[in-house]
Amino acid sequence: MYMQAIQDDITTLHVDAVVNAANSSLLGGGGVDDASHRAAGPDLLEACRSLGGCPTGEARITRAYHLPCQWIIHTVGPVWQGGKDNEAELLASCYRNRLKLAVRQHMTSIDFPAISTGVYGYPAEPAAAIAIATCRACQQQYAGPDRVCFVCFDARSMMIYQSLLT
Ligand code: ADP
Repeated sequence: MYMQAIQDDITTLHVDAVVNAANSSLLGGGGVDDASHRAAGPDLLEACRSLGGCPTGEARITRAYHLPCQWIIHTVGPVWQGGKDNEAELLASCYRNRLKLAVRQHMTSIDFPAISTGVYGYPAEPAAAIAIATCRACQQQYAGPDRVCFVCFDARSMMIYQSLLT
């Protein structure tokens, strides 16, 4: 598995699957979720409505509609509560479940935003360390996907990922 970080808007990527940092209703929120729904169009909201929500730490998949990628994997990260509320394990399970879904759907690549580090307030550095460590651990357990990309929205996030990946 090849891991890289790029600085970009995740809703503009021509890839297999992008991950959406949703809330548990799957009916729209801020940040990546808002950008995904605006770019994908109203069919995405319909598809999400039919899923009936998603618990924290789990993942659901839909088509991407007007987004240039093929699939959107919706996941619900933990809200940061100061670190004593199992947030780290929930965040790790988000990455784990998404990678499992990607393998099951025979996806060759997957692009992640920095889940929970926006509206949900998870500190960027420990969140990035969990993202990378969980993907590395999954690499040993499952075959694929071939490529994992961490899509950073801002320069600070990009610096954090780059320093942890080198
Ligand atoms: P959460 O609610 O899980 O915290 P957010 O969507 O608020 O999710 O933010 C998660 C991360 O995604 C933040 O680091 C934010 O800066 C970043 N982000 C927001 N919009 C985009 C986008 N269009 N593409 C990539 N990353 C984004």
